[in-house]
Amino acid sequence: MAGRSEGTSAGASVRHRVVIVGGGFGGLFAARLLKRAPVDLTLIDRVNHHLFQPLLYQVATGILSEGQIAPPIRSVLRRQQNTQVALASVTGFDLDRRTITAMRADAVQFELPYDSLIVAAGAGQSYFGHDEFSRWAPATKTRKDEEGAPSPAPARVGVDRGRSGRNPVRLS
Ligand SMILES: Cc1cc2nc3c(=O)[nH]c(=O)nc-3n(C[C@H](O)[C@H](O)[C@H](O)COP(=O)(O)OP(=O)(O)OC[C@H]3O[C@@H](n4cnc5c(N)ncnc54)[C@H](O)[C@@H]3O)c2cc1C
Repeated sequence: MAGRSEGTSAGASVRHRVVIVGGGFGGLFAARLLKRAPVDLTLIDRVNHHLFQPLLYQVATGILSEGQIAPPIRSVLRRQQNTQVALASVTGFDLDRRTITAMRADAVQFELPYDSLIVAAGAGQSYFGHDEFSRWAPATKTRKDEEGAPSPAPARVGVDRGRSGRNPVRLS
C-alpha cells in the first residue's frame, strides 16, 4: 500500500481515498481491516462476486452450488459505511496522477483518483513453462473454469470380471 496520509486537493478537507483493486481474499480482507478507518474506500472488481476458490472443486463435483461459494461483494461489505463497490475492469494505472483507469461492462471508461492504492488482482494459472500440461490439468481458478470441468457424475464401474476373472469392466 502506497499513499499519502492526507487528502489531495490543496486546502480541501477530503477524507483519505483508498482504492482496492480486486475482491478476492486479498482485497476483501484489506477492505475489512479498513472498516473503521477514517477513509473513503472504493473496492473495484471486474466481477460482482467474491469467489471462494478453495471450494471450486466442490462445485465442479456437484457437492456445492455456485451461489454457495460466490457471494456478491456488495453483500459481503454492505455494513461498511465507508465503502463503495464498483463493478469494472481496471485497465491502467497512472502512478504520477494517482488515478486508475477502468472500464464498465457497458464499455464506458472512467478514472478513479486515489490517495492510497491496494492492488490485489490475483494471479493466473502457471504451468512453469509447460503450458502443454494444461490439457491434462486444466485450470480451476474461476467460475468459468469450473463450468468446463468434467461431469460430476461418477463413472459406473461394474464387477463383471469377464473371462479372465480379473478386470472390472467400465460401464459408462
Ligand atoms: C482450487 C483452489 C484451491 C485452493 N485451496 C486453498 C487452500 O486450501 N488454502 C489456501 O490458503 N489457499 C488456497 N487456494 C489459494 C487461494 O484461493 C488464493 O491464494 C487466493 O484466492 C488468492 O487471493 P487473491 O486476492 O490474491 O486473488 P483472487 O482471489 O484471484 O482475487 C483477485 C480478484 O481480482 C479481480 N481482478 C483481477 N483483475 C482485475 C482487473 N483488471 N480489474 C478488476 N478486477 C480484477 C478478480 O476478478 C478477482 O476477484 C486455492 C486456490 C484454488 C484455485
